[in-house]
Amino acid sequence: MDSLKISTEAEAVASRLHKSGLLRTQGLIGGKWVDAYDRKTIKVYNPATGAVIADVPCMGGKETNDAISSAYEAFYSWSKLTAAARSRYLRKWYDLLIAHREELGQLITLEQGKPLKEALGEVSYGAGFIEFSAEEAKRVYGDIIPSPLADRRLFVLKQPVGVVGAITPWNFPLAMITRKVGPALACGCTVVIKPSEITPLTALAAAELSLQAGIPPGVVNVVMGNASDIGDSLLASTQVRKITFTGSTAVGKKLMAGAAGTVKKVSLELGGNAPCIVFDDADLDVAVKGALAAKFRNSGQTCVCANRVIVQEGIYEKFANAFSKAVQNLQVGDGFTEGVAQGPLINEAAVQKVESFLQDAISKGAKVLLGGKRHSLGMTFYEPTVVSDVNGEMLLSREEVFGPVAPLLRFKTEDEAIHLANDTNAGLAAYVFTNNIQRSWRVSEALEYGLVGVNEGVISTEVAPFGGVKQSGLGREGSKYGLDEYLEMKYVCLGNMNSN
Ligand code: NAP
Repeated sequence: MDSLKISTEAEAVASRLHKSGLLRTQGLIGGKWVDAYDRKTIKVYNPATGAVIADVPCMGGKETNDAISSAYEAFYSWSKLTAAARSRYLRKWYDLLIAHREELGQLITLEQGKPLKEALGEVSYGAGFIEFSAEEAKRVYGDIIPSPLADRRLFVLKQPVGVVGAITPWNFPLAMITRKVGPALACGCTVVIKPSEITPLTALAAAELSLQAGIPPGVVNVVMGNASDIGDSLLASTQVRKITFTGSTAVGKKLMAGAAGTVKKVSLELGGNAPCIVFDDADLDVAVKGALAAKFRNSGQTCVCANRVIVQEGIYEKFANAFSKAVQNLQVGDGFTEGVAQGPLINEAAVQKVESFLQDAISKGAKVLLGGKRHSLGMTFYEPTVVSDVNGEMLLSREEVFGPVAPLLRFKTEDEAIHLANDTNAGLAAYVFTNNIQRSWRVSEALEYGLVGVNEGVISTEVAPFGGVKQSGLGREGSKYGLDEYLEMKYVCLGNMNSN
């Protein structure tokens, strides 16, 4: 497809979104759509064409402080609603997200580049966190503790932590927000969201739908622009009681250090370096399908993407051939084109990172089996790539490549595979392919990771806890456990209970 056709399609989508009222281009503070106070803007681009989709406000500390104040004010009444009332608001928001699934999916493809089918999947997945939170809102139970003294009664209340600052990345423009905001609102917290300046439009559309759902002004606020100014304001405020962040490990560490100043609660969903271990006893087809999904979803730009495909020597050649064939069939192109499985990378810096990692690997002896260069479509399209003979010294296996490159590493024994897999500071997702049930248990237990997929490459769901160990983060999102991140426990002791 030529670039002119791509841009015409994208323009048509942008115009439809505009008409639907979901193409919001201002920040949301206290229920009002506002520009940056100094009128500065930033451009949002379509990564497939380079065309400007919209200008959004380039906000900073002042706007963030106002958003915090409005969230603080709204907290008073929102936290006092019954859980059932908050649940109804969330359910309505979920219904609206699903009713606008098509437009939201198109918006994700437009600003982020992933294929429309994947984008629609993200809307269902993202909306799922709101639905789940609506249900769980009603199950925030406390406890009664048997007292050691006869004249006392002891119990535990679970109460909302307060105003939450939620900072999110560009790779899942909707789901990374709903995964935080759903449980926060369910528990009675209010939020100031800072989406990535690269993909703010989906966040703004979701916020518009929260207003349409009747969620009161100030409960959901959105600011975007100067990331460090916004971050610093959230960190400095004593009214913000919690920072929840998804993004790079480097920024996560900065936020964790910054949160110390006011001793805020912190949740961090950071980078991964996922091993995908294929044992000799794996079903080849299952392993190829699983590794393909785990590696190439969102063109390799997810924190749970298989970053190292670690293959046992007995199946190595067979796997490398079958996997390369499957990768060759991945169609690259604009996300709006039917059948496309790989969209563009998010920006030029992302392509340059892939190039430098590949160069490093080749200079140290790795061999390119497939791809290995920019795609003929130009822009930031990159060929799906398979590289063999990768070892632990190469950047490709030490850091997240965050692109469509699958490095193959070879191992002999189960112990060696576990050692290779755990030889990293990251610990988010890991994948294991084996038909040996004992081995699947053994290896799952030995892997130092927060999530393990056995014979499955796509494991994220709103009903299960998502999060990393080691430097991949703190806390969990999704599932019943995800709500704990937005709750404080209060112990109440009633004394003098024997008197009348
Ligand atoms: P990033 O550069 O860390 O950015 C994430 C967010 O932090 C963006 O909103 C960014 O704003 C903001 N930010 C940057 N510097 C900041 C500062 N000093 N103070 C406050 N906020 C700041 O990460 P990314 O490149 O967008 O995302 C990719 C990374 O996210 C990868 O490492 C990936 O593994 C990780 N990730 C993890 C998970 C998980 O669940 N564990 C999920 C998805 C992604 P701007 O974009 O506006 O600059």
